[in-house]
Amino acid sequence: RIVYVNGDYLPEEEAKISIFDRGFLMSDGVYEVTSVLNGKLIDFPGHATRLERSLGELDMASPVSMDELLAIHRELVSRNEIEEGLVYLQITRGAPGDRDFAFPDPSTTPSTIVLFTQNKPGLADSPAAKTGTKVISIEDIRWGRRDIKTVQLLYPSMGKMMAKKAGCDDAWMVEDGFVTEGTSNNAYIVKGGKIITRELSTDILHGITRAAVLRLAAEAQMEVEERNFTIDEAKQADEAFTTSASAFVMPVVEIDGVTLGNGTPGTVARRLREIYLEESLKTAI
Ligand code: PMP
Repeated sequence: RIVYVNGDYLPEEEAKISIFDRGFLMSDGVYEVTSVLNGKLIDFPGHATRLERSLGELDMASPVSMDELLAIHRELVSRNEIEEGLVYLQITRGAPGDRDFAFPDPSTTPSTIVLFTQNKPGLADSPAAKTGTKVISIEDIRWGRRDIKTVQLLYPSMGKMMAKKAGCDDAWMVEDGFVTEGTSNNAYIVKGGKIITRELSTDILHGITRAAVLRLAAEAQMEVEERNFTIDEAKQADEAFTTSASAFVMPVVEIDGVTLGNGTPGTVARRLREIYLEESLKTAI
């Protein structure tokens, strides 16, 4: 696989990062994941815009322009012959010579930028989308700026392991009784045909797929309500689903062992997945 590191395209085994990189030492960095379908990037402008916002919130500058970023994404997709898969991008606050809590001077410590692809044939035709997924609920004990897409992913990773241990696919995180989001996706329930999802704030990541799906739902005359919902309300919903760049719209059929509806993906989730994939393929670049 050919990867990109600080201006160079290299075979992955030749790519090197300093042990002093603040991404490695302090999780001081941000990332984006963009899906590839038919060899093209899905929702790229949204991911680029969110990246700039994440960097700005952390007082970091991008080492490349957004146009260059698009060019790098395309180059990697092409060199690695990705038809279906994803592009991972990470920018960290570089590698000052020593470990120090204070941010280094960006004029002497340039940020580190890394991109790589993951090949995922059959991404759009996922078996999990046909059967639906099972989630457990766990307490949300993450920090308070979940709107910044940082590489601090230890708790979401632990949540995923807790779900696996329970024989489930993923975990929904709950704060003060209300669902915040999934470990790597935004969470939705459907009741009486109405799509309910938590409103945007610093409590959750502002999903790029969320924005697209809510826009498409409104265009399809589906009713959407952005408000907090409790995990108990979720267990009594007609259906549930999640959205993310890497799994699109994913039906949820069980929460904490409680089966939703008849235990198969709901009509709203299935329709949204179809509409989203269709629209994404049209607007992919
Ligand atoms: N919430 C969290 C915590 C996530 O990690 C992700 C995926 N990165 C999302 C939501 C979904 O965001 P997007 O649709 O932009 O992938």
